[in-house]
Amino acid sequence: MPTRPASFRPRHQPTRIVLEREYEARRRQAHPWRALYKTPQWQAIRVSVFAAEPLCRRCASSGLVVPATVVNHVERHHGDPVKFFAGPFEPLCKPCHDGEVQREERREAASGPPVTRRPGL
Ligand SMILES: [Zn+2]
Repeated sequence: MPTRPASFRPRHQPTRIVLEREYEARRRQAHPWRALYKTPQWQAIRVSVFAAEPLCRRCASSGLVVPATVVNHVERHHGDPVKFFAGPFEPLCKPCHDGEVQREERREAASGPPVTRRPGL
């Protein structure tokens, strides 16, 4: 009968699952607007964006065919529900979103007031 592999986590340290739950709880507390991502309204927007444009826009501009998995807000919403649901949006793959876009957002946050991005750049 298979047995569970040995764990190298000291007994007094929290498990990865506990750490992830704590991280999510801190994140929810710091950014309450993140709950907007769970609303039916956002889910509908997401589906319609992917239906209209199923490929990552940034990859497509480089001649690559990559399915989009993330709907990005082209203009930062800063937690404002009106801007959050109004768009404009762009379909991206996760590497483009997590790499380029978040790097741009961190750069904007460090350099002052938000700058409007043009889609596809
Ligand atoms: Zn991409």
